[in-house]
Amino acid sequence: ATFGTLSDRLTETFRNLRTKGKLTPADVDGTVREIRRALLDADVALLVVKDFTAKVRERALGDEVNKALNPAQQVVQIVNEELVAILGGQQRRLQFAKNPPTVIMLAGLQGSGKTTFAGKLAKQLEKDGHTPLLVACDLQRPNAVNQLQVVAQQAGAAIYAPEPGNGVGDPVQVARDGVEAARRQQHDIVIIDTAGRLGVDAELMTQAADIRRAVDPDEVLFVIDAMIGQDAVNTAKAFQDGVDFTGVVLSKLDGDARGGAALSVASVTGRPIIFASTGEGLDDLEAFHPDRMASRILDLGDILTLIEQAQQAFDEDEARKVAEKLANEAFTLEDFLDQLQQMKKMGSMKKMLGMLPGMGQMKQQLENFDDKEIDRTEAIIRSMTPVERRNPKILNGSRRLRIARGSGMTVTDVNQLVQRFDQAAKMMKTVARGGVPSIPGMGSL
Ligand code: GDP
Repeated sequence: ATFGTLSDRLTETFRNLRTKGKLTPADVDGTVREIRRALLDADVALLVVKDFTAKVRERALGDEVNKALNPAQQVVQIVNEELVAILGGQQRRLQFAKNPPTVIMLAGLQGSGKTTFAGKLAKQLEKDGHTPLLVACDLQRPNAVNQLQVVAQQAGAAIYAPEPGNGVGDPVQVARDGVEAARRQQHDIVIIDTAGRLGVDAELMTQAADIRRAVDPDEVLFVIDAMIGQDAVNTAKAFQDGVDFTGVVLSKLDGDARGGAALSVASVTGRPIIFASTGEGLDDLEAFHPDRMASRILDLGDILTLIEQAQQAFDEDEARKVAEKLANEAFTLEDFLDQLQQMKKMGSMKKMLGMLPGMGQMKQQLENFDDKEIDRTEAIIRSMTPVERRNPKILNGSRRLRIARGSGMTVTDVNQLVQRFDQAAKMMKTVARGGVPSIPGMGSL
């Protein structure tokens, strides 16, 4: 697991705390020391660790008291909140231009995973109904243009590349021409892949900054390899000073990276992490959720806490949020998709729960629960455009046919999903009126 080491250390620290009745200043200091050591071991930058532990210490010693929690849980809560805050707080989505095409520029060191990410992003955007154009501006590495061509083909996306054999070429001009071509050919998104070096160098930065100036992108995404450890801070700062970026893509989170890079980069640059890249395949791309990442750091190896938190978060906050949305008639298929994903997480707990005593009732509920069904539903929703997800009423016959084709399902499947969404929305209304099931949403499938 990505955060294995850090998570284990923190879990151990909290286990020691749990046996005590009340937090003394000595307890807090001891805990903070452990947290500091765990973070440093996870390759979080020293600067960031100091800042983080100071905040946790101050809050743990302060008179912020929550009577509902025991001392260990209080520290967990504080650490969790501070982790979420550093990781950006809210999930940040890609920002699209009011007047297409939206221009997205990628920057990062060679080997960071830029080209692979370009393909992943193109594929995901296509699924969402966009028509991205990939632009090959890495004219430095001999094979780079070709590599992007391969990735574009796999993603089924269009590509703009300079003619081969024209000498070195001017990447700034290629970027400009690429955006122009997108405008002419009605692509609504342009993804510009730029050159990287093995290390940070001045020429690389100047080139990237020149491209940025030439095409005025809506997003500049800095791609960084989660495995680079302590170097993350210097690399991120160099790119922030040299080109500046609007968001971060954390790549190779599937490896045994200890995850310190996520904390360091987010904290030092103040820029949100938007995507997590989790494998070499084009589908291995996830939206980055600060809260999920934080609970992953904290909760591995502590299943019961996970369940408690999941239930509480769901029962109270989620139900309230959903209720508000329903009141405003703003519950959409996007929200439905979010809920399904939450449920999928629950589904993977099925096995673990089986090993625990006293979980009979919950086990029963989980028995009726089919991961594949959720995958199919997800595929259908992902084949809808953002507008369709927000307003399923516009789903006429031809739209349903297109969605069925895009997701590899039948029109009947699409019809059933829309019907089920209506039912779920109705059930949510019951929840909103006070009838909160122990795992809400479970009854809708
Ligand atoms: P670029 O030089 O920045 O364009 O980097 P590439 O996209 O060529 O990626 C460098 C290497 O990392 C390639 O072998 C990719 O297959 C691999 N790679 C990229 N992203 C990921 C990821 O999320 N996980 C893993 N395991 N490998 C990745």
